[in-house]
Amino acid sequence: MNIAIYPGSFDPITNGHLNIIERAATIFDEVTVGVLVNPDKKGLFSIEERVKLIERAIKHIPNVKVKSFSGLLVDYMNENDIKVIIKGLRAISDFEYEFQMSLMNKKLSPDIETLFMMTCTQYSYLSSSSVKQVAAFGGCIKDLVPDEIIEDIMLKFRGK
Ligand code: ADP
Repeated sequence: MNIAIYPGSFDPITNGHLNIIERAATIFDEVTVGVLVNPDKKGLFSIEERVKLIERAIKHIPNVKVKSFSGLLVDYMNENDIKVIIKGLRAISDFEYEFQMSLMNKKLSPDIETLFMMTCTQYSYLSSSSVKQVAAFGGCIKDLVPDEIIEDIMLKFRGK
């Protein structure tokens, strides 16, 4: 089976992420959304909350699942027999960092490939942090994140 992993922080998932997931799901037998556990970076949502939000946002796509992982991505992939990393590119500014990371992963595990997918123009400005900035000031985040999770994000800020 041809499985790909789409790794990231997803704090929270946006429509830009979802668009990449939906497109990748048409190419691969299975796509795992990998939520990276980074102990040095405390996000808005806990890892468990991020996983639950993604699960709700992807329930219409049968061949996508969500997992969290810690440690090296290539180790997780080798343990789970995954050979392809999917990355989304928004702008040239994403490229340098992603290029470096894909070469490092290749060095660590030469049989793993990174595939880059270009953002859709309508999501090219979208990031988790910009969504959080808008929501923090009570702005409208409709069309920026999946409808199913809008209330969770607004509640998070109301509770702060
Ligand atoms: P963010 O940069 O929004 O915090 P992540 O670190 O969770 O997102 O990113 C996970 C992956 O999704 C990365 O490959 C990133 O380039 C990609 N990505 C993020 N936002 C978009 C978008 N709007 N369109 C396409 N790809 C995106």
